[in-house]
Amino acid sequence: MKAFGYTQARDAADAVSLAHRTPGAGFIAGGTDLLNLMKDGVQRHDHLIDVNRLDLAAVTGTATGLHIGGLARMRQVAEHPAVRKGFPVLAQALLASASPQVRNMATIGGNLLQRTRCGYFRDTASACNKRAPGSGCPALAGWNRGHAVLGGSEHCIATHPSDLAVALTALDATVHVLGPGGPRRIPIGEFHLRPGDTPNVDTALRPAELITAVEVPNSRTATGSRYLKLRDRATFEFAVVSAAAALHLDGRTVRDVRLAFGGIATTPWRSPDAEAALRGRSLTVETISEAGRALVRDAVPRHDNGFKVELVQRALAELLNGMGGRR
Ligand code: SF4
Repeated sequence: MKAFGYTQARDAADAVSLAHRTPGAGFIAGGTDLLNLMKDGVQRHDHLIDVNRLDLAAVTGTATGLHIGGLARMRQVAEHPAVRKGFPVLAQALLASASPQVRNMATIGGNLLQRTRCGYFRDTASACNKRAPGSGCPALAGWNRGHAVLGGSEHCIATHPSDLAVALTALDATVHVLGPGGPRRIPIGEFHLRPGDTPNVDTALRPAELITAVEVPNSRTATGSRYLKLRDRATFEFAVVSAAAALHLDGRTVRDVRLAFGGIATTPWRSPDAEAALRGRSLTVETISEAGRALVRDAVPRHDNGFKVELVQRALAELLNGMGGRR
């Protein structure tokens, strides 16, 4: 592991200032992904700024929604009464993530910033455009069972691994950040970037910006939300496909709906077309099937991952049937 410097920040402004003036700096909180990446030589920093002492760990239910500090731990959020009551998809996605030990340490901000689990990315002996821009993408013609069928480019087809980000996408969350230029807000749908020509750039964060909070608005759809994760083993495993639905049903009629998916795309994937197939209509086998077909209309399956096109439609049907769809 490459040697690095270490400083504990006093507060958020101090952390950002340190990061801004220290070449090669990065933030560390729970460290559950970052330290593995650094030990394996996948990610390198000359200096780490420890943000664990910052006063950013509170989870608060407000009149308009939920305010989650960027340093709140996954377990803390999953068990919070306001989350369980008003945003069940969030609690379910968090409890389906990682292991209890990781959930005790990992923060909400860090979860959104975790890197892809693509095996080529994590193996420094392999070429990889995300880790070493311009070196190539062996997954395109290689082993790509876990890779994306939506949102990819000729440079990268890696999936985003966060369950939390999928749930937040279905809830229309906003990410609050603080940087050298001051605070700003980033809608969750604009936070993670598709690979395009720059797969090495994962997010919309600017240099030295720190995630301070995530805000989730109250809504009828949030109250009636659920998460379904399909994975190769029952625990401590990333999604093969996952689906989050936030649904406001009036009898059988879908008054409003938000759908987001994991495991199938390069970013947490919202599907306006699938939502449009359901909104204002009765939640039936036919409309659910129509939504599933709309979801995968632009899918580009590769050699090993074509099964995801069918699997994610089945996951969506299973999820919506459990929420009141007519079988
Ligand atoms: Fe790297 Fe992306 Fe290709 Fe994986 S899919 S090898 S992360 S460029």
